[in-house]
Amino acid sequence: MADCLFCRIVAGDVDADVVHETERTLAFRDINGQAPTHVLVVPRVHYDDAAALAAGDPEAAAELVTAAAAVAEAAGHDDYRLVFNTGPSAGQTVFHTHLHLLAGRSFTWPPG
Ligand code: AMP
Ligand code: ZN
Repeated sequence: MADCLFCRIVAGDVDADVVHETERTLAFRDINGQAPTHVLVVPRVHYDDAAALAAGDPEAAAELVTAAAAVAEAAGHDDYRLVFNTGPSAGQTVFHTHLHLLAGRSFTWPPG
């Protein structure tokens, strides 16, 4: 999708600080990090949200999680938070599926 920011990052048309790549995923640092490690893991193929990805490409959905775990392990984090914001009122602002990996500090629950 030409007008999708994360499709443009996957295509290499927009710069990103890429930290991990797999056949189906790309992981890059969030431009507005909320933790010492804040990485977004996205499928290379466009889906609007996590549920659409899981329905359309279950292997890629699983690969998002294993890629996030690999990034966390490589950065030395045993503990981390994974988040899929889904829909505007849940905080989703980019409508290309992305898994937030947050690590390197303590987190509270419930989230804001
Ligand atoms: P969400 O609010 O869950 O849709 O998450 C979108 C995330 O994308 C936010 O945390 C933004 O800081 C991040 N973001 C927006 N533009 C970029 C960019 N060009 N490179 C990296 N991260 C970005
Ligand atoms: Zn996209």
